[in-house]
Amino acid sequence: MPTVLITGANRGIGLELARQYAADGWRVLATCRDPDRAADLAGIGGNVETHRLDVDDASSVDALAVDLKGQSIDVLFNNAGVIGKRGASIADVDYDVWARTMATNLFGPVRVAWALRDNVQASTLKVMAFTGSKMGSIGQNTGGNVIYRSSKTALNMAVSCLAQELESKGVTAVVFHPGHVRTDMGGPTAPVTAPESVAGMRKVVAGLVPGDNGTFWNYDGAPLPW
Ligand code: NDP
Repeated sequence: MPTVLITGANRGIGLELARQYAADGWRVLATCRDPDRAADLAGIGGNVETHRLDVDDASSVDALAVDLKGQSIDVLFNNAGVIGKRGASIADVDYDVWARTMATNLFGPVRVAWALRDNVQASTLKVMAFTGSKMGSIGQNTGGNVIYRSSKTALNMAVSCLAQELESKGVTAVVFHPGHVRTDMGGPTAPVTAPESVAGMRKVVAGLVPGDNGTFWNYDGAPLPW
């Protein structure tokens, strides 16, 4: 069966990704900052291995790459992310929060993708999926939340560059908007459940072809403007 690696797999969308891929019989490399406190993840049945990973920490990413050397990863799901500060306008922005948000939402996923590129290239499916956000779309910007929006816009550009750099290796790199999802980040009244969001993204992943490299998708399979 194929292998998926998921970042931020202890709760929210990442946990549901782990659940659904495991239920489908995949080998799941579920990563999180603190495996000792990931009870929900530990409760998932199937072929699930938990690995420690803080995407902000280069040494943590390097250690994971060493652990996984020589193992193929069909789908690398760069899911971990933070909101930063909700509602931030440029007038009252906190630059330290902004820098930390960029570290997690931009540098983290790029660092993980680059560190594990050989694992993805060695696989059959060769997919890198990134959980971005419609809030990162310049074409659909309605203003506000500059910290979170800009971190996801920057992620879009980084993935677009990565897609070009890895195209000759057969990698298909895509960004997803998972929907407004009922998680700690999305809040209790968000319209989309994590199972719906993840089922949609998994369906898109399953249908990807090399020509989709460097594209931006809604969870339901609709294309999104950068
Ligand atoms: P949650 O807040 O529920 O979960 C976030 C996950 O990311 C947690 O597992 C968290 O781990 C992990 N994480 C945060 N920082 C790091 C880090 N430095 N290293 C490793 N893991 C980290 O969010 P969601 O599940 O809702 O969101 C998942 C992704 O989807 C995010 O990238 C988010 O931006 C994106 N998204 C979500 C939307 C929504 O409506 N929910 C809408 C659009 C995009 P820990 O428990 O250790 O904090």
